[in-house]
Formats: sequence, C-alpha cells, structure tokens
Amino acid sequence: MQHADVLIAGAGPTGLVLALWLTKSGVKVRIVDKAGKAGTTSRAIVFHARNLEFYHQLGIAEIAVERGIKTIAGNFFKRGKKVGRVPLSDLQINFTPYQFFLALAQDKQEELLEQQLAGLGVMVERSTELVSFEQSANGIRAQLRRASGELEQCEATYLAGCDGAHSVVRKQIGTGFPGGTYEETFYVADLKCRGLFVQGEFNIALDDADFLAIFPLKGDEQVRLVGTIRPEAMKKENLQWEDVSEGVIKRLQIEVEKLNWFSTYRVHHRVATHFRNGNAFLLGDAGHIHSPIGGQGMNTGIGDAVNLAWKIAAVIKDKAPAALLDTYEPERIAFARRLVASTDNAFTFVTARSAFATWVRMNIVPVLLPWLFGFVSVRRLLFRTISQIAINYRQSDLSIGAAGKIRAGDRLPWVPGDTGTDNFTGLTTMKWQAHIYGNTPVGIRELCDKRGIKLHVFPWGNAAKEAGLQENAIYIIRPDGYVGFAGTDADTAKIAAYMDKWGICLSYK
Ligand SMILES: Cc1cc2nc3c(=O)[nH]c(=O)nc-3n(C[C@H](O)[C@H](O)[C@H](O)COP(=O)(O)OP(=O)(O)OC[C@H]3O[C@@H](n4cnc5c(N)ncnc54)[C@H](O)[C@@H]3O)c2cc1C
Repeated sequence: MQHADVLIAGAGPTGLVLALWLTKSGVKVRIVDKAGKAGTTSRAIVFHARNLEFYHQLGIAEIAVERGIKTIAGNFFKRGKKVGRVPLSDLQINFTPYQFFLALAQDKQEELLEQQLAGLGVMVERSTELVSFEQSANGIRAQLRRASGELEQCEATYLAGCDGAHSVVRKQIGTGFPGGTYEETFYVADLKCRGLFVQGEFNIALDDADFLAIFPLKGDEQVRLVGTIRPEAMKKENLQWEDVSEGVIKRLQIEVEKLNWFSTYRVHHRVATHFRNGNAFLLGDAGHIHSPIGGQGMNTGIGDAVNLAWKIAAVIKDKAPAALLDTYEPERIAFARRLVASTDNAFTFVTARSAFATWVRMNIVPVLLPWLFGFVSVRRLLFRTISQIAINYRQSDLSIGAAGKIRAGDRLPWVPGDTGTDNFTGLTTMKWQAHIYGNTPVGIRELCDKRGIKLHVFPWGNAAKEAGLQENAIYIIRPDGYVGFAGTDADTAKIAAYMDKWGICLSYK
C-alpha cells in the first residue's frame, strides 16, 4: 500500500495548485483523477491578479502571463451601441504587479500546472477514481478504482477533496450543500469572429431580454462568448450554436468564421455547510459553486488550495500545531459565502426578465455605470474586489494587531522597488517572514534570528506610505502573503508569544 502525506482527489485547477504548492514545500502527495486525460475545453477564462501573485510565489506567473492576454479594459454596449469603456491602466495606485485581468483558458492553466508538477516528478494518476474513504486516528484510508476496475487501498495523513461539484468527499463527510439552481441555460462558445465589439478587451452587451459577454482568447480574432439560450429552445436536448439567443449577436454584427467549442451549462449557487471533517478537506467547486459573473470560480478554488497548502506543509514539515488547520474553514468559508451571495445578486439582476428589471437594465445601468466608472475611486474598488486582492482574514484566529492602515489578516500590500526588487520578491520562499519598512527596532533582528525566520528590511518611502504601511512597524507575513501579526511597539515578548502559538520557529531556517 502506498502512503502519501496528502491524497488529492481531482486534478482540476484546485487540485493541481494544491499539489504544486505542497510538492514545492517538500510534502509527499498523490494526485488522482477519474478522467482518463486532461481537460481540453477552455471553461473558466479570467485569471485574476491575486492568483497571479500566488503564481509568482510558485515561480510560474511569467509563463502564465506569456500564454494569456492581458486585458486592461472593459467595454459596455446597450442594444448594440457602445456606451462606455472602463480602463484599468489608470488607477493612479499600483495595487499589484499584475494590474490587469489575464484571459487564459482553464485547459491552458491545467496544462501549465501539470507540466510544472511533472518537472518535480509528480504525475497525475489518471483513470483513478476515489470511491470511498474511512478516517482513523492515523489519518485516511481511501479506496481507489483504476480503469481496469481493480481496487487499490491508499493511506494518507490528509485527504483533499478537489473533486468538483459532484464531490465524493463532500458526500462522504456528510456535510450539506445548500443553495439552488437558476432556471436559465447558458452557453459558452470559443470561436473566431469579428463584429462591433473591441478585440483584445472584455465586452459586455445588454439587450432587452438578453446579455452577451465577450472575452479575448489567444490568437487572431479568437474570442469566448458567454450568453443565453433562446427560451423556446431550453427544453431541447443537445443544444447547438443555432439555439443561442440571437438579438445581441445581430446587433453587434458578429460574423462567425469558425466555431471551435460550444457547450451549455446550468448555473448553481451553493456553499457546503463545512469545508472539513477530521483530516478530510473540501476545496474549489467541491465546496462552493456559483454563477460565472466576475469569473471567480476557478480563482476561488486556487485561493482555497493556497490557503490549505501552506498550513498542511507547516504542520507536516515544520511541526506547526495541528490547530493551524482549524483556521482553513473559517477563513475560506466566510469568503465563499460572501462571494455566492454577491454573484447571486448580480446574476439575478443581469438575467431578470420582469419589465421593471429590463427597464432599469436598459435605461439606468448604461448611464449609471459609465458615469460611476469615470471616478477613479470606483474603478479602484471594482478592480480590488474582482481581482480578489481585497480578500482579507481579519476575523481569523491567526490575525493579531494592526499598524498604519494595515490590519492583521490583510494581504501584504505591494510596494514596488526602485531597483527592480519589490517587497513580494521574498514571498517566493513560501515561508513565514518578517517585514520592516524603515529602521529595525531593538530586539527584532535577534528574535527573528533565534526563530530562524527571515527578516526583510525595506527603506521607508512614499511607496510604502501609499500602500498603508507604517514606518518602523513590524509585520509578520504568512507563507501565503497575508499579514499574520502587525505591531508598532516592537514588543518582542508579544511577537514571540504569537510565534510560539503558531509554531513559527527554528525549523524555518
Ligand atoms: C462550461 C463551463 C464554463 C465555465 N466558465 C467559467 C468562467 O467563465 N469563469 C469561472 O470562474 N468559472 C467557470 N466555470 C467554472 C470553473 O470551471 C470551475 O470553478 C473550476 O473548474 C473549479 O475547479 P476545481 O478544480 O475545483 O474543480 P473541477 O475543475 O471540476 O475539477 C474536478 C476534477 O476532479 C475529478 N474528479 C471528480 N470526481 C472524482 C473522483 N471521485 N475521484 C477522482 N477524481 C475525481 C474530475 O475529473 C475533475 O478533473 C465554468 C465551468 C464550465 C463547466
């Protein structure tokens, strides 16, 4: 019987990122997928800045950016007429090194992640299905079924359920999956086409009873369309391109040269009641599913994976207390619930067919949105929210203190460096570290040296000030780039107590 530290069920984007982070941290994983081969359809398309920051930590952000399209503006259309453009390039604050939405299809993401894993000697075990599992004091004993039908027992300390919306792990840990399913059927089509929309940018077109979202794809005139199916066709089986709502497509004068991929889907909105039972965890679509508005699904799954990966690595490799794992569910389920509620509201509004909703959508929104987006503060809020850089864990047990405008639980703000290095460079170690912007208070260097955590001292300046940091304060940064502890009084006893509680010590040398 093969033993793994972590058995990962499902090699979608969530499982692959989890496997990559854990492997890079020295944790032994097995990753299995019931599908015989990797996905070849694009599915999720928008990749957000926060996840590119995680990819930077994993050393793959530049490759992802090269393979995708930097989308720096969105365009709005009403009944086929352009009514506004929202540029992201002039937010007048550098929030992140990745101030754009990256259009990179899900199959390309998965390919990149699998290549990286293979480079580290970890192969996805395909045609291998997690059938069931039991938990004991020693961890997990799982039953896997190979393509031949042969059953295999696998022991692991932890089980990560990254097995998608129909998760076996979720069903077996007995947690609920409350929520619902929307009535409408949507289509996704990848095609080569031209029309009145702006190539290379994001476009959203509203019509009386219809909407269409257009995303750029790599290649000449290649785009992804997301729209609705004609109501009278919804009951048909085997829906085709001929069944899509034509209103917006005609108004935007879209001429299709080649249809590369077409699929339809129903949208659900559900969050599991719990993300954990003992040593089994739920991540990604196994724990939450929601409308595609804002392109958050895949991004949130990857956020779950990073949050759990460093905690498992700390417990297994660095002898951190197992209580660290208790912080996974509260940190991630809180965000999943907020996300499902907000995408639910937006989605209900965009698709509502009542006369009043249509009137608001066609008369108020096209005037209000361009006006609102004329304000840089609104564009900043939009970017911070959608890009997931505003996610915080302020309520977490792991978050203690505040300094400047930064509270423990916030993402470490990005401070661009004058000489090519910035304050994110050190995050590639994926380890706890301490940051000071200014002068190092007495006793802090000795404390960090004693504990074996790296101390990064940056010069104080306008960039740090604008980012909301405080001069000479101490920030203890988690391996995923969130602030764990923030303080201004350099009270070494307080900092040492925080480090003791979470096992941040010598082993991090
Ligand atoms: C047509 C379509 C369009 C979409 N468009 C968007 C979009 O525009 N934006 C967006 O954010 N999201 C979109 N999504 C959702 C997005 O694809 C998901 O959020 C994302 O795939 C979640 O990743 P995951 O790894 O958690 O789960 P999945 O990608 O579902 O991966 C789960 C994996 O687990 C495997 N598996 C399942 N059961 C088992 C088992 N018992 N044992 C072993 N392996 C198992 C499956 O084979 C699969 O490979 C779309 C989805 C679809 C289908």
